[in-house]
Amino acid sequence: MKYKELIHVVEIKSPLTGELIGTVDFTKEEELPFIMTNAKESHKLWSSISLKERLEFMTRLRKYLVEMGNELSREIAKITGKPVIEAYSAEIMATVEAIKYYEKNAEKIIGLQKKSTPIYFATKKSYVEYRPIGPVLVISPWNFPFNLAMAPIISALIAGNSVILKPSPETIFIGKIVERIFKSLDFPKDVVQVVYGDNGSGLASKLIDMKPAKIFFTGSTATGKKILKQAAEYMIPVELELGGKDPMIVFKDANLERAASAAIWGGFTNSGQVCLSVERLYVQEEIYEEFLSLLKGKLGEIWQGNEPYADMGCMTSLSQISKVKDHIEDAKVKGAVSHSKGSIIDGNRFVPPTILIGADHDMKVMKEETFGPVLPLMKFKDEDEAIALANDSEYGLGAYVFTSDSNKASRVASKLESGVIGINDVIIPVANMDLPFGGVKASGMGRYHGEEGLKIFTNQVAIVYDSGVKSKEINWFPYSKNKMKLMEKMLKLLHK
Ligand code: NAD
Repeated sequence: MKYKELIHVVEIKSPLTGELIGTVDFTKEEELPFIMTNAKESHKLWSSISLKERLEFMTRLRKYLVEMGNELSREIAKITGKPVIEAYSAEIMATVEAIKYYEKNAEKIIGLQKKSTPIYFATKKSYVEYRPIGPVLVISPWNFPFNLAMAPIISALIAGNSVILKPSPETIFIGKIVERIFKSLDFPKDVVQVVYGDNGSGLASKLIDMKPAKIFFTGSTATGKKILKQAAEYMIPVELELGGKDPMIVFKDANLERAASAAIWGGFTNSGQVCLSVERLYVQEEIYEEFLSLLKGKLGEIWQGNEPYADMGCMTSLSQISKVKDHIEDAKVKGAVSHSKGSIIDGNRFVPPTILIGADHDMKVMKEETFGPVLPLMKFKDEDEAIALANDSEYGLGAYVFTSDSNKASRVASKLESGVIGINDVIIPVANMDLPFGGVKASGMGRYHGEEGLKIFTNQVAIVYDSGVKSKEINWFPYSKNKMKLMEKMLKLLHK
């Protein structure tokens, strides 16, 4: 089915250079029913082909990304303002890893699985079948716009579903790249469709009203709550990958050189626009001054600019810059001292990396997600205080512990309320596809990556097979005293 009419054409400019990247036709509301119908039709076809064949499409996709990775990361860098090397590692390489992982493991994860059957049911066999569910609505953010669209798309497709992608308006041109890739690799028509609109258009919300089989949302907690509420009306299953306020704890026995480099990279990579960014830095009081001087030294070495291999590029979203500014101002008013490579200039997206010395939990920068290049620093006395401070947050996405004492690392980590933990490392768990990824508390619900990342896009059907030879089962009617005695005997024999 075809229906296309322009509502308006938007020019997309690079936040990095201001150059024109291209144009995007906004999707018209009247197109949405056709898009949903197409998604349902393409799902019928796509789900009817074998997992093996679907994986062959994925192999083509992986090879394409490897071949075209350099060019694609340059395009992504222009769209987002991030350095090319970050686009290459976090957007392209991460997507390739995801495909490779599922090429290797999908059959094991969602192929028909034989399960054990209790001894009472000796004549039966048990299985789990992982069935495709239908059109999946993927709503993606702007900070890693390619990977955070592609990762759920890939998983949903491998599981046999069609996808409608609603990319963030901030990096909307990513949708064009996604469309181009699937088209050029001859994926079946409409198995991946993209809708384009600004937040005011409410396209995602209108699509939810059309009852997709599943919603995979990555974005802010505020939007996540709205989606959850709307999806509840229709009982649509939802995965919510939301914001974070990740703490990093540095104990006095840590490798301070490594911890300081990790804090600087973890706080400032992608200009701090990472859900797993180090957003709160807690340092044990005995090493506070020494650690601060290491941080200052490393901050001074950061190269920020629009050159492809600069350490930091610019921020993607102008509205995010106002938030960063507000958090810095609020912290300063409340007594923090700012140490920065420069100041924020109105209209300029190059926000200099900033350390806030002497932060405390009355400041917005320690409570709300900043999502910018700001590293607030606070002292702690001992293990208990560090854990209490780290857990004093509505969020629970990532948390990091730096110490050379492995017992202490495990002890502290086990008490941190988060979905992702790095010991003597930051951000990295998200890059291991064999690990589940997701948060607790206001950081979301559900997991993706790993086994869960495929299973969430399936209907897990429990099947018991009986040969049908016996005329009845012991637990069926009629009941009797003797039957009760027999059951009692069996239970005691098997489970005493
Ligand atoms: P956002 O919530 O503003 O937008 C995310 C997406 O939702 C966009 O596509 C947007 O257009 C859409 N949207 C907005 N309002 C909507 C509504 N009412 N109904 C349906 N869709 C709607 O988030 P953002 O600013 O694009 O992304 C940054 C946030 O994402 C940060 O909080 C960050 O921590 C989080 N994030 C989380 C993860 C994770 O894996 N947990 C990863 C990356 C980013």
